[in-house]
Amino acid sequence: MDWLRLSRLSPREIRGLQEAKLRRLLSEQIPFSKNYRTVFERERIDPRKVKTIEDFRKLPFTSKKDLIPTDDNPERSLDYILRPDPKLLREHWPRMRLLGLLARGRARALAHLEREYRPMFATFTTGRSAASIPFLYSKRDVEVLQTAAARLLAVHGLTREDRIVNLFPYAPHLAFWATALGGLETGSFVLGTGGGRVMGSTATVRLIQKFKASGLVGVPGFVYHCLRRARETGVAFPQVRTVILGAEKLPDALRKRIRETLGEMGSKDVAVIGTYGFTEARMAWGECRGGEGGGYHLYPDLALLEIVDPETGEPRGPGEDGEIVFTPLEGRASTVLRYRTGDISKGGIVEEPCPACGRTVPRLSSAIGRRSNVADLRLVKVKGTLVSLDAVAAVLGSFQEVEEWQVELRRANGDQYGLDEIVVYAAFGNGTRPEAFAARLREAMREACEVAPNRVEILPLPVLLEKLGMETEMKEKRFVDLRPKE
Ligand SMILES: [Zn+2]
Repeated sequence: MDWLRLSRLSPREIRGLQEAKLRRLLSEQIPFSKNYRTVFERERIDPRKVKTIEDFRKLPFTSKKDLIPTDDNPERSLDYILRPDPKLLREHWPRMRLLGLLARGRARALAHLEREYRPMFATFTTGRSAASIPFLYSKRDVEVLQTAAARLLAVHGLTREDRIVNLFPYAPHLAFWATALGGLETGSFVLGTGGGRVMGSTATVRLIQKFKASGLVGVPGFVYHCLRRARETGVAFPQVRTVILGAEKLPDALRKRIRETLGEMGSKDVAVIGTYGFTEARMAWGECRGGEGGGYHLYPDLALLEIVDPETGEPRGPGEDGEIVFTPLEGRASTVLRYRTGDISKGGIVEEPCPACGRTVPRLSSAIGRRSNVADLRLVKVKGTLVSLDAVAAVLGSFQEVEEWQVELRRANGDQYGLDEIVVYAAFGNGTRPEAFAARLREAMREACEVAPNRVEILPLPVLLEKLGMETEMKEKRFVDLRPKE
């Protein structure tokens, strides 16, 4: 549906639209999934009986662990791909739809099915777990991603007149491709630099200048690094008006710092906007311009997002905290139902029109954290305590004087059976004196994470940038675990 029209629908109309799409998904698409055929048979679920969102919310969840390869099934995630065959089509498609397909003639019918279902593109999950899981797209899925990404740019207030530099690392990851495809859809000028490892910050800064980019898109840490490099060399960026950040959590302190840095470089009223997306969704959402922190604007015709109690799985009401659960409504190829993201939303989903732009699509609160769970990939055990890396990052980010930092986990004296040690490396901005810093950091970390660093080492900025691999790694190395693998 047309985004402008969709953005003005009432909650009742949106619900009607989503229920119609859910019914079709469950009766005409999900039977093509080997995984869900097995699950539904085992749980004695008749997908055709699901009529409302309430019915749908009784179906079982899918979670990350359901996708991870096992010894019995090393290609488990492929069981989620929709693969129709003539028998399944006859069994599950309504007669009129089948006749419509056949009326096209054999060649065109096959071409249609191929466009709908044949995997032709993939992005991978980037978790810290050993298994990187591919999510496949058919041609139609790529078009859905294109539509979603174009909407994302529209929500951010970017137009065809904007020139965008895409600083995401060139990789089979959602962030890079969503940005590239979004530009192809809207017709905006989008230049992909490939990120620090491909192009480095000096060349990136030069390109931003050369093309008079008005929009920058990338990972928060690297975008900030490039801005700092530009400021150091006396470059001005008066034309930059939008910075879109993704792939990593955007700490408030960094958002503020990016805005200040750009202000010093002559750009006025710059919007620094966060996005939310994940590989399994094959799409991403953004906050609207002028509504920083006002929630991610959802696309109710492309996906159903739910908020559930992270412990019991029970549905939560509008505006209530809980775990984010995702179902694509237009998905083909790799399709997950009621996928538990492990992300916790503070403030959940609200239906009131956005106070900044008036769009009526549901909004997911901007405050998203990770679920406190042992299986959580962002939790590590240090000195016998579970430590959230996000919490450590938040503490370090809250120190105004800290320009860059890295946390190293190691064993005392390099002894593999020794005690865990936490070493924090920090670099300061110009003119800051580090004297009392270590004591304040220890206290703040003990309070927020229950562990304190054994050692705090102050390094010159260039040395720390080198350690972080800002110009050489796909993603900067904020946390380095040197302990032997168990
Ligand atoms: Zn808005």
